[in-house]
Amino acid sequence: MFPTFTLRYSRLPAHFFEPFTPVTVEQPTLIAFNQTLAETLGFDLTAFDEQQATEWFSGNELPPGAEPVAQAYAGHQFGGFSPRLGDGRAVLLGEVTDRHGQLRDIQLKGAGRTPFSRGGDGRAPLGPVLREYLISEAMHVMGIPATRALAAVTTGERVMRRMPEPGAVLTRVASSHIRVGTFQYFGSRHDAEAVRVLADHVIERHYPELSDTPEQDRYLALLKAIQQRQAELVARWMGVGFIHGVMNTDNTSIAGETIDFGPCAFMERYDPKTVFSSIDTGGRYAYVNQPVILQWNMARLAEAMLPLFDADEQRAIERATEVVQGFSEQYLDAWLGVMREKLGLVQEEDSDQALIEALQEAMRVGRADFTLTFRQLGECARGEDGDAALLALFEQDAGIRAWLEQWRARLAREARSADEIARHMQAINPLYIPRNHQVEQALSAAAEGDFAPFETLREILAHPFEEQPGREAWTLSASPDEAVFRTFCGT
Ligand code: AMP
Ligand code: MG
Repeated sequence: MFPTFTLRYSRLPAHFFEPFTPVTVEQPTLIAFNQTLAETLGFDLTAFDEQQATEWFSGNELPPGAEPVAQAYAGHQFGGFSPRLGDGRAVLLGEVTDRHGQLRDIQLKGAGRTPFSRGGDGRAPLGPVLREYLISEAMHVMGIPATRALAAVTTGERVMRRMPEPGAVLTRVASSHIRVGTFQYFGSRHDAEAVRVLADHVIERHYPELSDTPEQDRYLALLKAIQQRQAELVARWMGVGFIHGVMNTDNTSIAGETIDFGPCAFMERYDPKTVFSSIDTGGRYAYVNQPVILQWNMARLAEAMLPLFDADEQRAIERATEVVQGFSEQYLDAWLGVMREKLGLVQEEDSDQALIEALQEAMRVGRADFTLTFRQLGECARGEDGDAALLALFEQDAGIRAWLEQWRARLAREARSADEIARHMQAINPLYIPRNHQVEQALSAAAEGDFAPFETLREILAHPFEEQPGREAWTLSASPDEAVFRTFCGT
């Protein structure tokens, strides 16, 4: 039933990874399995055997053909560089070729102590596993590139965190797990040959369109292309109010997917300074800082790749600097694209940026819920019947009243009918997002053995753009006593 592996990463030079066999667990139970994803990956579900699946997804048994490795990487964490991080609690079983012909990594997260574990136990508690499951799948359904969740298994063992917690293993699927930090691992060791091998692997796997670029420009083009995908990704995060929480370079994917769902969360009322992560005391990774941090991460990537840009170091620095400086424009374009679409605008006008910023300011002053504001604007696009419900989302509505008039004047210059605009807006502005208090409630129940709230939330989040009668409560932001202000790191 397991698809055939197409091993790639474990075929790279030996110092790219450490062979590692998952450590067995006491009493595995399969608690979630993503059938749709499994089918895409080429699993034969007619032969689905839960017992067998549980053995595989807990790491107790290796699927046929797997050659498991822990990947080496480095990274800047909150600005400080660690030359050796690596998979401390994850193991790459191998790649499979999915039904679209794409290579996909299959990784177990929480599979035991690896040569990269340092002081850690190599394990994952149930809460963070389910949190990643819910949020990564929700991101995917909203059209935002993200790693996926294939399965979750409880281990029957306890892991020690602030308190003992049930242990779990997540099966994560990614286009690859290559990170900015993977380049830094070799760059910081001055291993230019490894940097080139890694870059060639990345081009073949994620940016094949660059393989014909003349060699002297190819790697700079790669940097620019990675930056483009990341700019588009972060623009999409901004468009749904997503705060990653730990945008370290080891959590920045070369393929441009959202990866490592630790203390991430969706903003409720709009405040650009919002931070959720309990470990981000300085607000480094606040909502509004995400594009700035991304550019910083791209500069670190450029440093690691430097020897590939030019034999002359000074010239290499100049060329890299020019590309990294171009990030601001790449990001602005991507962000304007996302925000125009959210507001029902297809045509481009110079004043659009000011219009978007004026809405942000009205939301900030009015302390309005980010998600519901855009959703309700879809109703307002149809006509004035929706206005009262929109205004009700704002504690002070002078700003939004004035803005609505501006926006309507702008919409009038669009070629589409009001109904078309409204329909398009409702198709891209979610009504349901993984609200932090709901996620936390589902995780607490699961820790007590009740998986029903997790299942309900999973079902709801599978259809974020559709009204789901009877489930209105899940559209609402947290009441003051439900609000979760801090999210603890998923380790
Ligand atoms: P993260 O904060 O999840 O991005 O992880 C940062 C680094 O810490 C990576 O090298 C992880 O493999 C490692 N790490 C995180 N949690 C654990 C753990 N429980 N045991 C061993 N290593 C860990
Ligand atoms: Mg990480």
